[in-house]
Amino acid sequence: MSSKILILGPCAAESEAQIHDVADKLGSILHDSEVGQFVPVLRAGLWKPRSSPSTFQGVGAQGLPWLLRAAATVDCPAATEVAQPEHLLAAYEAGVRHFWIGARTTSNPFMVEALAKAPIADKQSITWYVKNPISPDIELWCGAVERLRSAGYEHLAAIHRGFALGEHTISKYRNTPMWSVAIEFKRRYASLPLLTDASHIAGRAEDAPEVALQAMRMGMDGLMIEVHPNPAQALSDAGQQLTPEALQVLLQRLALIATSVEPGESTELAALRQQMDETDDELWALLSKRMDISRQIGEFKRRHGMSVLQQARYDELLARRMQWAQQHGINPEAAKQIMDIIHEQSVLAQV
Ligand code: PEP
Ligand code: MN
Repeated sequence: MSSKILILGPCAAESEAQIHDVADKLGSILHDSEVGQFVPVLRAGLWKPRSSPSTFQGVGAQGLPWLLRAAATVDCPAATEVAQPEHLLAAYEAGVRHFWIGARTTSNPFMVEALAKAPIADKQSITWYVKNPISPDIELWCGAVERLRSAGYEHLAAIHRGFALGEHTISKYRNTPMWSVAIEFKRRYASLPLLTDASHIAGRAEDAPEVALQAMRMGMDGLMIEVHPNPAQALSDAGQQLTPEALQVLLQRLALIATSVEPGESTELAALRQQMDETDDELWALLSKRMDISRQIGEFKRRHGMSVLQQARYDELLARRMQWAQQHGINPEAAKQIMDIIHEQSVLAQV
């Protein structure tokens, strides 16, 4: 089984004592736990992209030697977030070689371009982790990867940290995972490791383990998990950081997944996939039939001068479908999203 990457550490470096404390604890956990399939990396944000200027902005370059010394005690590489060439150059000069580009930075092609063009002597010594942008725009995410690649970087990876959808979400998490976007990214970049940032998706420490477990069961190539020696006192993202003890429990659960044997192409799996393909054929044939009916209804509305959008009818149809979904073990909010797309296509076919 190929190695998976495990990026662990606090949201932000807050003091030399804090980062050493977390590194000490991680060192003994990584030593004791069954993490053979994971390659650890120690993270700490030094320059923090905070929404509000009145909150903790990070300790900046003074934290570089703290982070590097702490990583040396765990015997793993140090990683930090860079958003501007000055961050990158200062961290590179100090000896950091693993960098992540945060969601807010990936969203801005000018900033990614500036990072890609920064004068780095040994590009092959650097590993970049590109987080997905804030909004579910896969082209922005891919664009950031392409900018780094065109600048000559070869060691590239990506991090799925979910999307800020505000009230347009059916997710209970801080950032909606939209796994379909991550899966599409994996399809486009099959050779790039894709990690899941369970902490920034979940937003709450108690939810981060389930996201991490889902990601590993899906076959993602690693995890980013925020760990703080005393999360309640953290200066940023206090609610979502795991204690070292909670991390240890999670690692034990992850070990069970990672050591399970891949069944390969069993006949049982092949038969189930065959059934699934046939079911999809039927599903699409039915969708096509529904669109034909929709066009006929459109003709009728035109002949009788009716407007296309009949809100009361859709409300009634949607309520019925969501109720049905609930009774059949389908998330009603997911059913609503599917119905909304089908209805939108239907309306567009009639106008
Ligand atoms: C972080 O990793 O601490 C961070 C700010 O992440 P994101 O860019 O995913 O919000
Ligand atoms: Mn954070």
